[in-house]
Amino acid sequence: MRKKNVVLEKVPVTAYAAEGKALARQDGKVIFIEGGVVPGDVVDVRLHKNKKDWAEGKVVNFHVYSDKRVAPFCHHFGTCGGCKWQMMPYSLQLEYKQQQVADHLQRIGKLVLPAMDNILGSAHTEHYRNKLEFTFSNKAYLTNEEIRENNGEIPVKPALGFHVPKLFDKVLDINTCYLMQEPVNLIRNTIRDYAIAHDLTFYDIRQQEGWLRNLVVRLCTTGEIMVNLVIHHEDKANRIALLDHLLQTVPAITTIVYTINPKKNDSIFDLEPVTYFGKGYAEEKLEDFVFKIGPKSFFQTNTYQGEVLYKVTRDFAGLTGSEIVYDLYCGTGSIGIFVSRNARKVVGIELIKEAIDDAKENAARNNVTNAEFFAGDVVDICDDAFFAHHGQPDVIITDPPRAGMHEKLVNKLLEIAAPKIVYVSCNPATQARDLALLDALYTVEKVQPVDMFPHTHHIENVVLLKKRANN
Ligand code: SAH
Repeated sequence: MRKKNVVLEKVPVTAYAAEGKALARQDGKVIFIEGGVVPGDVVDVRLHKNKKDWAEGKVVNFHVYSDKRVAPFCHHFGTCGGCKWQMMPYSLQLEYKQQQVADHLQRIGKLVLPAMDNILGSAHTEHYRNKLEFTFSNKAYLTNEEIRENNGEIPVKPALGFHVPKLFDKVLDINTCYLMQEPVNLIRNTIRDYAIAHDLTFYDIRQQEGWLRNLVVRLCTTGEIMVNLVIHHEDKANRIALLDHLLQTVPAITTIVYTINPKKNDSIFDLEPVTYFGKGYAEEKLEDFVFKIGPKSFFQTNTYQGEVLYKVTRDFAGLTGSEIVYDLYCGTGSIGIFVSRNARKVVGIELIKEAIDDAKENAARNNVTNAEFFAGDVVDICDDAFFAHHGQPDVIITDPPRAGMHEKLVNKLLEIAAPKIVYVSCNPATQARDLALLDALYTVEKVQPVDMFPHTHHIENVVLLKKRANN
């Protein structure tokens, strides 16, 4: 056994690897490093995994700070799990993301790549999200500094903010968050201040008690603002007083719903939100398409870059109006609807029935009459009979979750052999694995990474595959 708890000293960090870990090489070994390091830093690393060819650890000391570093703009940086790459200039973040897509496709996919297009950066590097979920907790997470200021005592304070990574019962009280535009900070801080002033209880996840549980805010490019307050049980008088105070303080809010969640877990998908004010949903726009977004609907979290992503997808599909297009993992149908005017017909498939209901409603709202949507597992639905009934696809658009496509589906796509596949991915590692299988029939024609999440290591990547001429 190689020793685990050793500290490697003065390790020069050279690059980034997957999942936001930095990379260094020492004595022929690859070292993955967690903890806010930047290539150019020289650091001591405490290992928690130590194998023959590689090791993994956390930074414990800095000897040299990289000259590439910039000052993080958020005062919650370092504690909050959110925007962990703020210490790097945006242009460098984009370089590393671009590099990682190429690495994955070449190393995991072993693919011959065309010249890759440069990653499309986000015009908005702050305030780019359209939705955030905050958590109430009776136990605020305190930084070491705050504990020191309190002479080592840990006072129990309520908090409304984000979960601290790896600490399930602690929440970081958030003052200002740069992920969404105002009035999101005003909404959150108004509710917190009112709740504290009126002795309303914040949820205790260990004891399973307390009234206020979660706050979800959605802000659309149309100007609509939806608030969903999740409470443990009904308390009519306090609920009305709190929500009325919120409306008076933030009159820009267009709709408020509340959800009663007496369960142990935080998920609201099996619960029914109740409309308190306004229409109970919000409307978002992509180009001139309007989407209805309910409290439980999924929608791309960066509207501006969502539009860019869909444009790349539509462009790669190269539609002329005569094609049958399949939209696999279609969610609420937004990609299918976005390309529908350029296609003869769109067939969307998605696991979650409520998402398919939204997709149908969104198609109707936008007068899209050439799209059909089906709920179920893509692996089960996509059989020969289904393709025979709905028509052989000219283009398949696929946008799976992080795990990528099931191998059975990949094999089915190889059998169906559509002339083109557009593969949209939020995880280039699993995308590369799937592309390696599709390589039996398809060549990679185009690769376009899109940055949806500035200051995080997350990458979105669109690939166009074309069937080889000799097959
Ligand atoms: N294309 C959509 C959503 C992509 S997210 C958009 O751009 O908005 C991936 C979607 O795949 C999710 O909606 C998830 O519910 C769905 N999904 C996950 N596993 C699935 C499966 N086995 N079969 C069908 N859909 C699945």
